[in-house]
Amino acid sequence: MIFLDSAGSSLPPPEVLDEMVGHLRREAEVGGYRAAAEREDDLERAYPVFAELLGCAPEEVAFTDSATRSWLTLVDSIPLEPGDRVLISEAEYGANAVALLRLAELTGARVELIPSDEIGQLDVAALRNLLDERVKLVSLVHVPTNGGLVNPVREVTEAAHEAGALVLLDACQSAGQLPVHAADLGVDLISGTGRKWLRGPRGTGFLVVRRAVADRLRPRLFDHSGADWAGLWEYRMRPDARLHELWEFGVAERLGLLKAAEYALELGMDQIAAQVGERAEHLRTGLAGIPGVTVHDLGERPSGIVTFTVDGLPPERVKDLLWDKDIVVSVTSEGSTRFDMGRRGLSAMVRASPHYFVTRAQLDEFLTVVTGLR
Ligand SMILES: *Cc1c(COP(=O)(O)O)cnc(C)c1O
Repeated sequence: MIFLDSAGSSLPPPEVLDEMVGHLRREAEVGGYRAAAEREDDLERAYPVFAELLGCAPEEVAFTDSATRSWLTLVDSIPLEPGDRVLISEAEYGANAVALLRLAELTGARVELIPSDEIGQLDVAALRNLLDERVKLVSLVHVPTNGGLVNPVREVTEAAHEAGALVLLDACQSAGQLPVHAADLGVDLISGTGRKWLRGPRGTGFLVVRRAVADRLRPRLFDHSGADWAGLWEYRMRPDARLHELWEFGVAERLGLLKAAEYALELGMDQIAAQVGERAEHLRTGLAGIPGVTVHDLGERPSGIVTFTVDGLPPERVKDLLWDKDIVVSVTSEGSTRFDMGRRGLSAMVRASPHYFVTRAQLDEFLTVVTGLR
């Protein structure tokens, strides 16, 4: 098996799998409550571990069941009024875009597009021209789902903050692939998933709310773990990011996610980023040299996601042919990133996303197979 889909849903290390299966077995022996109580210390440790991974404080971390859940929770907490503006990048992910359209309908806020520059990443100068005091949120995708670039987060954050806007970073494709450091990047809010580059389980996500902006949020609904039911007719909201969590969650998944984060930290995020970058570069160069193959990646700083098309073969067909040979890639299509794909006149691309566990021999084997496709 040659696995090139860590941007879709990666392979968990054995440690992660063992942790999850072990906990499910324990739940079957003693019940979910007691099994969770036995792991209370580990469940608590998840906060400082993710704080280390994401460059923030443990009180700024919360866990959810997906990146999209994190994103929706955060965006729904931002007070928006008629005439307020929300700026998004051309790489905005489908789930976020649809939610924002709905939110605009509900609040009377306007969603506007920040153009990309000539190399395809968010145009910071264009952003500066768009900013004014009505902009309440700048939503930025760190690494787009459909192509090999890394957006300039720090520059965006500085510009947005000068105008008083919050910055929400979609780190779904960067967490576990690159260092994502909230403090260094200066972002206010972060959403991310476990199942992609972090090699955690499906159905897991996390979010960050920086302390400095917490009281600018107005979370709408929470339960009796997010807020204390202080008296018959009273509640008291938690002061930390865990306000955004529900009482119920998959404990096996949470423990698996924790293991995955510890695994990544042990390897070192800088090391991981270097290994992924090297592999993606090898693929990009190799694919670009194959007649009839077009590489579509943009940007100044490439990521671990390599996108391409093969003349005369629809991307779905390429994916199926590769799956038949036990090479796992995925297809990224228009519905995930309509602004970017539309601008470039693309409806779908094959996406290969090699993690550090893919060998050079496997990459070369993949290139040979792609060469033979036509
Ligand atoms: C995958 C992805 C998401 C959504 O992640 P879920 O785990 O499906 O919630 C959000 N943003 C980007 C950039 C993605 O690639």
